[in-house]
Amino acid sequence: ARPRSSNFPSRVKVVLRLRPFLASEIEKNGSKPQRCISLLDQEDEEVTVHLKDQWTSRSECYKLDSFFGKEEKISQIFRKEVSTLIPGVFTGVNATVFAYGATGSGKTYTMQGAESEPGLITLAMSMILSIGESMSSSVEISFYEVYLDRCYDLLEPKAKEIMALDDQDGRVQLKGLSWVHVNSMDEFNKAFSTCVQRRKVAHTGLNDVSSRSHAVLSIAVRNSGVKGKLNLIDLAGNEDNRRTCNEGIRLQESAKINQSLFALSKVIYALNNNEKRIPYRESKLTRILQDSLGGRSCTLMIACLNPGSYQEAVHTVSLAARSRQI
Ligand code: ADP
Ligand code: MG
Repeated sequence: ARPRSSNFPSRVKVVLRLRPFLASEIEKNGSKPQRCISLLDQEDEEVTVHLKDQWTSRSECYKLDSFFGKEEKISQIFRKEVSTLIPGVFTGVNATVFAYGATGSGKTYTMQGAESEPGLITLAMSMILSIGESMSSSVEISFYEVYLDRCYDLLEPKAKEIMALDDQDGRVQLKGLSWVHVNSMDEFNKAFSTCVQRRKVAHTGLNDVSSRSHAVLSIAVRNSGVKGKLNLIDLAGNEDNRRTCNEGIRLQESAKINQSLFALSKVIYALNNNEKRIPYRESKLTRILQDSLGGRSCTLMIACLNPGSYQEAVHTVSLAARSRQI
């Protein structure tokens, strides 16, 4: 039996999120496309998912912590998996939520939501603001992007590059990263949408950087001397280079992204196996997030899936399942 999370404080939960087919995907196929992912078995603390290739009928099964199907709203993921992390943040326990998956799998949608439904960021922010108000805590945010091991402060005009410097303990400090106070959802929405816009235009001349960089929103809460942080992270899309035929700079870039995602999965694996040595140092991302991964902090990984792509799903779910494995 798997150890329960109470005995295993730094265990990382890994859940799946399957998005629906988009109208454009249904149109292109002429008829309803075949879904290649299904839920096989659901127990209290574990689900088994089945991935099946409609063309070759190859198939694989993986075990994960939880599964959210296409009918389920972001608010259900929030209620079950994210809202439970927030009270801890007010007692100084850091928490991190990652959206992980291929480009087009629904990471940004899950984090930022759409007009028809609020995303995890909005839901988390409003819960934090309302608890914060009742406890008279201060709430601050920072928002930055990690692209090819460089960090850009999205709260600064032109997404200013900031240095990630080693301190004496071998940890990385983001020198001069901006933090702004937020008192209401209105204030937050204004700041956040400016940042999102900035993220789109910051890297002019470079193709599609926003899906090839990690975006980190940190919400810090200070409450009578105690400080806790919730990080909400939209990870760069993981790519299978054998399939995407990347070349040259694109291939190097994508190798770097995959390397940082692989490093992240190794850290999560090491945490879940209670290993003594956690390999934080293998990527910039894990070094920056060191104080929020492991130790007393809580981590949730949401592996996002496009229902029509078997190869992508195998790529995403195998890494997710491997990092969870005990
Ligand atoms: P990613 O950030 O992983 O590259 P996106 O979040 O941009 O992917 O999603 C890709 C497309 O799918 C977008 O057009 C988005 O609006 C749509 N989408 C994703 N998840 C859902 C969902 N749960 N319901 C409806 N549309 C979705
Ligand atoms: Mg995205």
